[in-house]
Amino acid sequence: ARKNSRGGASSVSAVARRLPVGVRKPSLRVVVTGGAGFVGSHLVDKLLARGDSVIVVDNFFTGRKDNVAHHLGNPRFELIRHDVVEPILLEVDQIYHLACPASPVHYKFNPIKTIKTNVMGTLNMLGLAKRVGARFLLTSTSEVYGDPLEHPQKESYWGHVNPIGVRSCYDEGKRTAETLTMDYHRGASVEVRIARIFNTYGPRMCLDDGRVVSNFVAQALRKQPMTVYGDGKQTRSFQYVSDLVDGLVTLMGSDHIGPFNLGNPGEFTMLELAEVVKETIDPGASVEFKPNTADDPHMRKPDISKAKSLLNWEPKVSLRRGLPLMVSDFQKRIMDEK
Ligand code: NAD
Ligand code: UDP
Ligand code: UDP
Repeated sequence: ARKNSRGGASSVSAVARRLPVGVRKPSLRVVVTGGAGFVGSHLVDKLLARGDSVIVVDNFFTGRKDNVAHHLGNPRFELIRHDVVEPILLEVDQIYHLACPASPVHYKFNPIKTIKTNVMGTLNMLGLAKRVGARFLLTSTSEVYGDPLEHPQKESYWGHVNPIGVRSCYDEGKRTAETLTMDYHRGASVEVRIARIFNTYGPRMCLDDGRVVSNFVAQALRKQPMTVYGDGKQTRSFQYVSDLVDGLVTLMGSDHIGPFNLGNPGEFTMLELAEVVKETIDPGASVEFKPNTADDPHMRKPDISKAKSLLNWEPKVSLRRGLPLMVSDFQKRIMDEK
């Protein structure tokens, strides 16, 4: 493992091994970019709960201070408003790099900004990791597989991606981010980890972020029809956020670089998803068909055998069990709007 003079991950564990019984080990200093967002804020909860010191770096494009407000008095927590497209100097042991809008509606809103975030933001965080000897984890995406011709998708599949389409700022951006990550690993000996995340849902998603689970849940709660795009026969696999966060922390702590698919293999058509939302929220809920967006992947389902065998990780929460946990959060926030 790489050592460094500023107490990088390897030197912290070396110190911890020498400590007498009963003496607290120094906490890991961790930065979470995008930590005020949906996934990031749940990750921050977990890291703080296990004793790490956490710095959140976020420009609040899609993230909200509310998501981390409960930590503001904690001396091990720090919140920095910063855009990762600009360089930043920090002294940390680990970097979880999540900063990037994830909903298609958000990432298409300003595509040039999205690709700058993916390329320049990732470059800056890798430069930081190199300077301080920190371990770096990239949250990549199942979108690197594009509209896949292989089903389910294994990590060895190179994908089927349109380089000039409206989703390219995100999927090609993430592909470049993966390339940068591997080049810093090979060329600058940075310790890296790559997670390819599949559709994830849970409390704290933006109410109107355009993603399918948040749309259907908010629509059903507001007694509006659920908007099904296209014929509704396209498929996705939906992972509950706590499973993802467990996977990210396990991957960071492991000896494996990846990439690893992190997702729930349970596959649903959008019409089936609407049915589950209906059963969970309102048996009277209806659907309304809308035209689909360009380049929409027809099917997506992770092959997670690599993560199962090397990380001993697999998701535990089914859609039928996870959905109600998200619904109660949405219900409360929709009530607060009134
Ligand atoms: P999110 O939009 O809720 O969170 C992204 C966070 O990054 C927000 O807090 C936002 O303000 C921040 N951000 C965006 N651009 C930034 C910039 N230039 N500088 C600093 N901060 C910036 O999305 P999420 O669902 O929490 O996704 C987190 C990460 O996981 C993203 O990198 C996303 O690509 C990846 N991912 C998520 C999913 C999913 O289903 N949720 C699937 C695949 C990949
Ligand atoms: N960088 C940063 N924080 C650091 C170290 C580097 O933001 O602590 C940025 C730096 O400004 C540069 C990028 O990371 O834009 C890549 O840094 P690297 O040292 O790899 O490349 P160079 O600066 O030599 O181009
Ligand atoms: N979708 C839908 N209704 C909505 C939002 C999305 O039918 O209100 C569909 C969308 O066309 C896609 C799938 O749901 O086929 C997943 O979309 P989402 O934006 O959640 O994530 P993606 O996997 O496309 O990044």
